[in-house]
Amino acid sequence: DPGRGESSAVLGVRATALNDSSVLLLAEDRTQRQRADEARRDFVANISHELKTPIGAMALLSEAIEGAADDPESVRRFAGRMQHESGRLGRLVNEIIDLSRLQFDNPVESARAVPVDAVIGEALDRVQSAAEAKHIRLVRGGPHGLAVIGDKDQLVTAVNNLVDNAIAYSPEHTRVAVGVRERDDAVEITITDQGIGIPDDELPRIFERFYRVDQARSRQTGGTGLGLAIVKHIAAAHRGEVSVWSSHGAGSTFTLRLPRHPGSHTTADPVRPVDSTAADVTEGTA
Ligand code: ADP
Repeated sequence: DPGRGESSAVLGVRATALNDSSVLLLAEDRTQRQRADEARRDFVANISHELKTPIGAMALLSEAIEGAADDPESVRRFAGRMQHESGRLGRLVNEIIDLSRLQFDNPVESARAVPVDAVIGEALDRVQSAAEAKHIRLVRGGPHGLAVIGDKDQLVTAVNNLVDNAIAYSPEHTRVAVGVRERDDAVEITITDQGIGIPDDELPRIFERFYRVDQARSRQTGGTGLGLAIVKHIAAAHRGEVSVWSSHGAGSTFTLRLPRHPGSHTTADPVRPVDSTAADVTEGTA
């Protein structure tokens, strides 16, 4: 296709002579299958690498504990680091399980009307203590009463991952806002933070599995690099999409666009705080 630049395809071709003058050619486009195979191989290679790191660290730490048996201070320090590594390993395994399960569930097949308020409410509940620990104020804005089509658990996971990141990559005493918009036959859920932001040249890569802008920082926060890959997968499975806007150093907005349930309508509601950290906040003085 000269009009669309260079591209390549993988074809499986079989030729059979029918008679003296004709040949039957069967061509099968295997491009997709080959790409899926490559992606699967990469994923398995990445998984082994990612699992080996915390397991290796735990092996070293347990040796260190053995060697420091007479020094309670060191034992305590090494044990703390072991807990950190095992926590990371646990999260990693959970997310790998999530991701594999998503591969088999088709949310559109079992689709039902899912109230957006319930999805956001549950996603915010799960991050309440993480937000409190960093004095981050959670704010819910936009209309209520909308519904989308899909699988509620998956949608809660997607919004939760985005809010989780917004908190993880923001400094203390900032604000994370979850907004809702009705756009034609879609509902957009936006998650906005005042955090570290993402450099322009990194933006195209952040939805890749195991990709992290700052390996060291992500390791510290316990990130696995799978959160956004899961969000992207869930959005696509719902025939929606996820996009990002970010200004390095100033903050990010992630937008999850989902098909609106045709029967759902909006009820107006002003922006209001939804968490119990409101006591820490001097509102209106910023
Ligand atoms: P992780 O487990 O490392 O957070 P994700 O897949 O959720 O993995 O995110 C991939 C990377 O994208 C993160 O490591 C981080 O560098 C960047 N990122 C994601 N969300 C945000 C955000 N709200 N602000 C700044 N950077 C972010």
